[in-house]
Amino acid sequence: MTESKSKSKPESHDFAKAVAQIRAEIGLIAGDYHRAPANIRIMAVSKTIDQQRIEASIKSGQRLFGENRVQEAAQKFPALRAIYSDIELHLIGPLQSNKLKQAFQLFDMIETIDRPKLVEELVKLRDEYRHCPRLMIQVNSGREPQKSGVWPENLADLVTLMKSHDLPLCGLMCVPPQHEMPTPHFIWLAKQAELYQLTELSMGMSGDYPYAVACGSTLIRLGSKLFGERPKLSFNPQAQNAP
Ligand SMILES: *Cc1c(COP(=O)(O)O)cnc(C)c1O
Repeated sequence: MTESKSKSKPESHDFAKAVAQIRAEIGLIAGDYHRAPANIRIMAVSKTIDQQRIEASIKSGQRLFGENRVQEAAQKFPALRAIYSDIELHLIGPLQSNKLKQAFQLFDMIETIDRPKLVEELVKLRDEYRHCPRLMIQVNSGREPQKSGVWPENLADLVTLMKSHDLPLCGLMCVPPQHEMPTPHFIWLAKQAELYQLTELSMGMSGDYPYAVACGSTLIRLGSKLFGERPKLSFNPQAQNAP
């Protein structure tokens, strides 16, 4: 195939170039805020991106991926994992109880634990399989009714519950309200992680990652910044279907 000059479909070298630019930028911000750049990882959010483009990004060196929907990840990743065994896959979308078992088997990390019912079922699965993916709690720091995530006032109880069951809880994740300054949300989440001695902070997306890095993020989740704009979805992937 001849190389296309078209800008509309970013190829693997564009992906690699974007990662290199963001890495350089992270290096500068980390320097300003006395952080080690190695403690800030870049997740490629591959929702809506097909296997071929994901594989191109893997060939350019990317290993950490995030998917929103269990079903979509189940269609794309097992075949890729068979070839590239060191892929790390995180679930970053809302989790329904009836998808938990599948998510449990598919993902290395589930970032969206947000209610006691999921914890109960995770404990059962962990006891049955004698292993468990690493876990994060998603916090709905802006108390937005359409968004998943535990509300701030219920975070302490959820952390306590997970720790009492000895689940591998390692951090907190948030998606700040779209039309607010993200920084207060990031600062607050970082404080909570420190309070509960959790080392991972999944915060920052294409539109706000420099702020997240300044506030202590250890994991930025980038979709459009790496793969280009996604087609508009006809539904809100953050919305919870069930009450
Ligand atoms: C889609 C998504 C991202 C990536 O969004 P971009 O703005 O394209 O970087 C990050 N986190 C979550 C939870 C998402 O759903």
